[in-house]
Amino acid sequence: MKGNTLPFELIRDLQNIPGIEIFDMPSDRKNFSRDFFEYSPVLQTKLKGCCADLIVRPLNVESVGLVAGKCLEYGIPLTLRGAGTGNYGQAVPLCGGIVMLMGALRKIRNFNTINGEVTVEAGCLLGDLNKYLISKGRQLRLLPSTWRSASIGGFIAGGSGGIGSVRWGFLRDPGHLLGLEVITVEKKIRRLQLDAAAAEALNHAYGTNGIITALTLATTNAVDWQEVSIDCEDWSAAVQLLLSCSRAAIELHLCSLLEQEIVEHLPSWSGPPLGKHRILALVAPDSVSTVQRLANAVGATFHLLGPEKLGSGNGLRELSWNHTTLHMRALDTDWTYLQMLLPQPELEAMNELKSRWGDDLLWHLEAVRQQGVQRLAALPIVRWRGVDLLNQLMRHCKNVGAIMFNPHAITVEDGGLGVIDVDQVETKRQFDPKGILNPGKLKGWS
Ligand SMILES: Cc1cc2nc3c(=O)[nH]c(=O)nc-3n(C[C@H](O)[C@H](O)[C@H](O)COP(=O)(O)OP(=O)(O)OC[C@H]3O[C@@H](n4cnc5c(N)ncnc54)[C@H](O)[C@@H]3O)c2cc1C
Repeated sequence: MKGNTLPFELIRDLQNIPGIEIFDMPSDRKNFSRDFFEYSPVLQTKLKGCCADLIVRPLNVESVGLVAGKCLEYGIPLTLRGAGTGNYGQAVPLCGGIVMLMGALRKIRNFNTINGEVTVEAGCLLGDLNKYLISKGRQLRLLPSTWRSASIGGFIAGGSGGIGSVRWGFLRDPGHLLGLEVITVEKKIRRLQLDAAAAEALNHAYGTNGIITALTLATTNAVDWQEVSIDCEDWSAAVQLLLSCSRAAIELHLCSLLEQEIVEHLPSWSGPPLGKHRILALVAPDSVSTVQRLANAVGATFHLLGPEKLGSGNGLRELSWNHTTLHMRALDTDWTYLQMLLPQPELEAMNELKSRWGDDLLWHLEAVRQQGVQRLAALPIVRWRGVDLLNQLMRHCKNVGAIMFNPHAITVEDGGLGVIDVDQVETKRQFDPKGILNPGKLKGWS
């Protein structure tokens, strides 16, 4: 077996590691070098040629450390991959080298029956973890809409929030991630147990400053979520209703609002399109009557769809967050998207943007809790008309006061608030001093 540009000795050493699978077929190297960056035409151009020289799949934590040691010894880039569902090319090896699949590490190591904390290996799928927790009367607080296929390690290292953000905010808020087991890429490879404070620097760092092998997370009580859809003729009434639901004394797991043009093109799981804007919500049983009352008060049409069926794959969750973009792109790949926190008051800014961009900008809102305050995030669907117009649109959004999270950028910083997090960089200096891990993704290091 021969890697593309890797030293023969490295490949031989890797083959001698017990508990490891190695893939070197061109089709494997190509498939495991991609994620869902195609949602961004900008990233499509930038990332399409990136390919790993070799794929490895360690079967236990010891082998992870041995692979890391060999990459360091030979100076070969090492990029980690959970399920590869990221949207910004987080798991794409910009400089080739080795892609390490973390999916075989999926044990649930401990569940604390007193406080609900769970310790789980990084490759465990969120769907499997959530199912296990439900059997214990608990559930995950936050899930991406890719919760069936994505891994917990990839969610912490590459995700931000999603289903649950309406009550629990975002992954980097203190209280969600309580500890990490990490393998470092130093001369002497170490396996460390980090507490919640030390773990913060690896949260949303795209696997650039340590290899996460296990995580300890807070969980919450399981709820038998009820699916609700609400149709609203008037956009401003729909936005007000979204806000009043998210601010009421009720329990919600999801509260999304889709502009009528989007509703028309989505699968009909939330009911047939009625030519109106639609709110999709996951509501606790004791909160349904309040949501109905709030909807009636603004003349909206309320539908109780019934309890969520998690086994089905066609729940309201699968119409929310970036799944909305997925469905729109399934019809027409010229659709792309943006991500932002809307300014307050929201309507004025949205109306200004709509009047300039018309049907090239379709609103998709998500009610979220941001630093303790109920706010509206937007993931508008955007018609691709070239990079200049996309940049113009992003500038316009900023000018009306939106905080942008650019999904057309490669680095941790450019996809976030644009600022360098010194703790992330300092942790990389300690745990990956030679810069082997996912090179090119941490701007503060570059
Ligand atoms: C349709 C669609 C909808 C989505 N919805 C959401 C959403 O609602 N919310 C959201 O936050 N995201 C969303 N995403 C993005 C993505 O699905 C999630 O962030 C997901 O949790 C990533 O998990 P993964 O296992 O696929 O990670 P990957 O894509 O494999 O990896 C993500 C990053 O984590 C790093 N990484 C992986 N494993 C480890 C490890 N063990 N140690 C250190 N670093 C590691 C990788 O190197 C990479 O940088 C969506 C994507 C799509 C395509």
